[in-house]
Amino acid sequence: MSLPSQISFSKKRTWSHDLPISFLMQQGVENPGVLSLAAGLVDQGSLPVDSTRKALEALFADPKTGREALQYGTTAGSLALRTLLLSHLSNLEQKSADELGITVDNIIVTTGSQQFLSLAGEVLLDPGDICLVAAPTYFVFLGVLQGLGARIISVETDEFGMRMDALESTLEMLESQGELAKVKMIYLVSDYENPSGLSLSIDRRRQVVEIARKWSRMQRILILEDLAYRELCYDGPVAPSIRSFDPTGETVILTQTFSKSFSPGLRVGFGVASPEICAAIRDKKGNDDFGSTNLSQHILARVLDDKLYYEHVEQLRSVYREKRDCMLDAADACFSDIPGVHWVHPNGGLYVWMTLPESIETGFQSPLFQRAVHEDKVMYVPGELFYAFDQGISAEEQPAIQKNHMRLTFGVQNPEGIREGMKRLSNAVKSLS
Ligand code: PMP
Repeated sequence: MSLPSQISFSKKRTWSHDLPISFLMQQGVENPGVLSLAAGLVDQGSLPVDSTRKALEALFADPKTGREALQYGTTAGSLALRTLLLSHLSNLEQKSADELGITVDNIIVTTGSQQFLSLAGEVLLDPGDICLVAAPTYFVFLGVLQGLGARIISVETDEFGMRMDALESTLEMLESQGELAKVKMIYLVSDYENPSGLSLSIDRRRQVVEIARKWSRMQRILILEDLAYRELCYDGPVAPSIRSFDPTGETVILTQTFSKSFSPGLRVGFGVASPEICAAIRDKKGNDDFGSTNLSQHILARVLDDKLYYEHVEQLRSVYREKRDCMLDAADACFSDIPGVHWVHPNGGLYVWMTLPESIETGFQSPLFQRAVHEDKVMYVPGELFYAFDQGISAEEQPAIQKNHMRLTFGVQNPEGIREGMKRLSNAVKSLS
C-alpha cells in the first residue's frame, strides 16, 4: 500500500522554516576557514570542567544522592536548587528574599531561560495580543512571539535602553486606536542587551514599572525581564533588576540563566513570577517535559552551594573583560579611519554593536555579507534580524528597519581570533566604503 504523499502539519505551525540561526550555522559549515564573530557561544576555554567534575564526583560518591540525581525530578525544579536560587537572587539584588517578596514557590526551573521565555509567552499571550519590545532586541524571542501570533510593536531606544517617553507615546497611540486592551507584555533585556550591549538605566528600571502599572487600566500589563547577561558585568557591580522595583511582584516576571555565567550545555535557567503565573507555567511545562534535567540541576545546586560557581564567575569576568577590551582596541585600530562607522562600548555581556553608514547594508543577501563570508572569511550577525515586524500594520507602514548594523561577539574567539576577525571585517567594509 502506498502512503499519501502529504503530511498534514498542524495549522499552528507558524514559525519560519529558515531560522537565521540555522542559516548562520550552515554558512559556517559550508565555508571552512570563516572566522565567526557571529556565533553566540561562550568562551570554550573557560567552560567549568573542574568544578563540574568535582560536583559530579561529590554527587556520585554517595549512591543515595547519585540515584536522586538520576531519577525524575519535579516539574517546578529541585527544591534544593530553588532554595539556593533564593539566596543567589538576594545576593545579586543586595536585598533579602523577604524584601524581594519571593519564596521558593515563586521560582520555576526551566531548560535554559529560553524555555521560560517561550512558556511565559504561551501561557500569557493569545494571537493578536500585543508585546512591546525594544528596537533592537533578542531575535529568538521575536521568533517565539511570531510563532504565537502575537503583535510585536517596537519602541525606540537610546544609549540608556528603551526610551520611556517613546513607550508612553506608543501606549497613548494604542489607546487612541482602541487597542490598549490588547497590550499584555513589555519585554526587556535589562543588562547588556543582545544585540546592542546597552543596559536600561536604573531610573528607567523604576519608571517602566510605574508606566506598566499606570497603563494597566484594561488588564495587567506585565514586564517580562530577561536577565541573561546580568552576571557578566566587567566595569562595576551587578545592577538591580527591574523586578527589584516591584516588591509585590505583581508587574514583573524575571528570567535568568546559568548558560552565560556557567555552562550552556547544562541547560538550566529559571523564572521568578507570581504563584499564579508559576502554576500556569508549571502545568504547561508538565505537559511538555515533566521538569528540566535533574542531573544538571543537582550539579548546579552543588556548585552554588560550594561557592565554586562564584569563583568561576569572577574568573569569567576577567577573561571576558580582556576579550571585550581586545575587540574594542581592534575596532579602534581597524575601523576608526572608515567614515561613518561607530560602535557601542559595552560594560558587560558578549556583544559589540557596530553601525555602518546607511549606504552599507549588512543583511544575508547584501554585498557586504557575501564579501565578508566568501572573500574575507569572517562572519557577523546582520543587525536587521533584531528588529521586529509589526503584523498589525501593512508592510508600507512599518517603522524603518535599520539595515546598517552588525552584531559582533567576543565570546567565542580568543584574542588572536578577535584581532584577525576584526581586520578581515574592516577589509570587507573598506571594500564597500
Ligand atoms: N535571552 C537572551 C537575551 C539570550 O541572548 C539568550 C541566549 N542567547 C537567552 C535568553 C536564552 O539562553 P538560554 O536558553 O541558554 O538560557
